[in-house]
Amino acid sequence: MNTLLNPQLNADLHCHSVVSDGTLTPELLAPRAKANGVELWALTDHDEIGGQARALAAAKALSLPYLTGTEISVTFANKTVHIVGLGFDHHNTALAQGLRQTRGGREERAREMAQGLAQVGIHGAFEGALTFAGNPELISRTHFARFLVESGVCNDTSEVFRRFLTENKPGFVPHRWAHLRDAVQWITAAQGVAVIAHPARYGFTPNEEYALFTEFKNHGGQAVEVVTGSHTAAEAQIYAATALEFGLAASRGSDFHSPDESHTDLGSLPFLPGKLTPVWELLVDRIQ
Ligand code: AMP
Ligand code: MN
Ligand code: MN
Ligand code: MN
Repeated sequence: MNTLLNPQLNADLHCHSVVSDGTLTPELLAPRAKANGVELWALTDHDEIGGQARALAAAKALSLPYLTGTEISVTFANKTVHIVGLGFDHHNTALAQGLRQTRGGREERAREMAQGLAQVGIHGAFEGALTFAGNPELISRTHFARFLVESGVCNDTSEVFRRFLTENKPGFVPHRWAHLRDAVQWITAAQGVAVIAHPARYGFTPNEEYALFTEFKNHGGQAVEVVTGSHTAAEAQIYAATALEFGLAASRGSDFHSPDESHTDLGSLPFLPGKLTPVWELLVDRIQ
């Protein structure tokens, strides 16, 4: 059997670099993954594939099997949902265009976030956040959080999110991201597999969650993250059952952003629960 088909593979198919809101370059993530025992890796920057060629080259140099990746911001039932794409052709122009369009509203949103923060006495947050953004097209709440920690307003990024950057807080700006259907279709048209990221994080009602999984599947989505840095063991069990219920494959990824901020390092997750189809089984021909 191809050893990459093992359901108990140390696959890490979700993490971020400086091309979105991570703090490490693709060239530093690859050896970190390798040193931590990762056997199949994907870099999944938010709304961006600009780091894919670098990640692939860095993985190749270490003989680390690689899948292309991204994490697309979507609005569904008035909440932000993340759809991971894996194993797509990163030269596909429709995917690149869709991601560019999704990134497009970020600067304006960031300026409005800074205005909200200025109203509670925090000035210069747009410029401050930008100094933390490795990619000016991808200014995110994470960069604001780092700026507010560095300025001494908060002790850590979780405190910033809690006090300033979540719904009804001064730096929160509601935003319309991509449509679920478009995100899934950009990925699948580029020969990739679409994955619902960290489903336990959305706070949907059971009806909303049922609608998300049903529509995702109808649009051609094929997998769900079951084991991920922000899921508890109980949540992994819940979404293992959901994967079986909807006939979806299961993915596994740390969602690593930074050695200083992330609780879960690359490659240090529990294995997928048994009985599930690992997403890498669908992608065996796309591994590079
Ligand atoms: P954005 O795409 O600009 O809305 O930023 C979303 C990112 O913020 C996520 O991908 C996480 O990296 C980060 N994030 C969201 N919520 C939290 C939180 N409660 N604590 C720390 N980071 C968070
Ligand atoms: Mn992030
Ligand atoms: Mn996410
Ligand atoms: Mn992520």
